Amino acid sequence: MLIDLHSHLEGRVRPQTAAELAAGLGIAPPAGGWERAIRLDGPADLTVYLAKVAVTYPFFGSTDAARRIAREAVEDGAAAGLDYLELRFGPATHASDEAGIDDVVAAVTEGMREGSAATGMPSGAVVAALRHHDRETNLAVARAAARAAGNGVVGFDLAGDELLYPDLRPHTDAFALARAAGLGITCHAAEAAPGPAAREAVEMLGATRIGHGAHIVDDPDTLRWAADSGIVVEICPTSNWYTGAIADVAQHPAPRFRDAGVKLVLGDDNPLQTGSGMREERDLLARVLGFGPADLAALDSVSVEAAFLEPAVRRELAARLT
Ligand SMILES: [Zn+2]
Repeated sequence: MLIDLHSHLEGRVRPQTAAELAAGLGIAPPAGGWERAIRLDGPADLTVYLAKVAVTYPFFGSTDAARRIAREAVEDGAAAGLDYLELRFGPATHASDEAGIDDVVAAVTEGMREGSAATGMPSGAVVAALRHHDRETNLAVARAAARAAGNGVVGFDLAGDELLYPDLRPHTDAFALARAAGLGITCHAAEAAPGPAAREAVEMLGATRIGHGAHIVDDPDTLRWAADSGIVVEICPTSNWYTGAIADVAQHPAPRFRDAGVKLVLGDDNPLQTGSGMREERDLLARVLGFGPADLAALDSVSVEAAFLEPAVRRELAARLT
C-alpha cells in the first residue's frame, strides 16, 4: 500500500503549473526553467532544501491558484498509485490582505476535495503552524484549522526551523485549541534537533505522531520512550538525506527504529524537490534499508491506524491490508 502521511503541498507544485501561474503573476521565469528552480540537484543542507521549497510560495497568493495546486497535488498522488494522501501546508505564510488564513485553508481543502472526487483517492489536509510565527499568528492558524475540522482539515502540525526556534511554549495554546477541535496532532521534531525534542512535542503539544524524528535514535532514553509510548514516527528517508540530517540514505535510522519496536509510517515530504515519491521511498526501504515483507506490512498497518482519517475511510483502507 502507499499511504503518504508526511507530504507538503508546497512540495507538490507542478513545474508546468508554476510556469503558468508565474506568467499570470508577472514573475520572470528563472534561468533554466521552473523544474530546475524547484528541484534539488542532489543532497544539500536544510537551508538549500528549504529555499527550493520556498520557490513555490508566491504561487499560493491567490486562492484560485492555491485551489488548483491542491487539486493537482491530489490528482498526481492518485496517478502515482497512492491509497491515501495527507497534505500539509502553512496557511499563514500564504495569507495576505486579499486572502486571509481562512480563505487559504478553504481554497486548499476545496482543491483537495475536487482532486479526491475526480480520482476516488481519499485525502486529508493538515494545517501547519510555524515555529518562527508568533503565538497570536499560530493561534489564528489553529482557529482556522478548527473551523475547518471535519470539512477537509484532519490534522495540525508544527513546522519550521527547530534549531533556531526550539521553544514550544508559545505554541501550546494553539495546539490545545486544535486538539479540542478533534484534529490529529503531529509535529516536526528531532529532525535537526536532538532526540528529546520529540518527547517535548508529545508532552507539551499532545502530538501522537512525530515528523522525521531522525535524531531520536541518537538518544537511548528517547528511543526507549518512543517504543514504550507507542508514538508514531513519520520517516522520510530521501528528505533527511537531502537536508543533510543524515550523511547518506543508507544510514537512515529506519532499521534502528524498527529493531527498537518504534511504530513507523512513511512520507515523501517534498517529492518534486527531491525527485523521490512514495513508490521510490518504499522501494528504498526494501532495497537499501533492509525492510522485508513483514516490516512493510507492519508499516502499512500502522499507517492505516495512525492516519488522521474519518472512521469510514479507515475501514475502507483497513480492508485493503493484506
Ligand atoms: Zn516535513
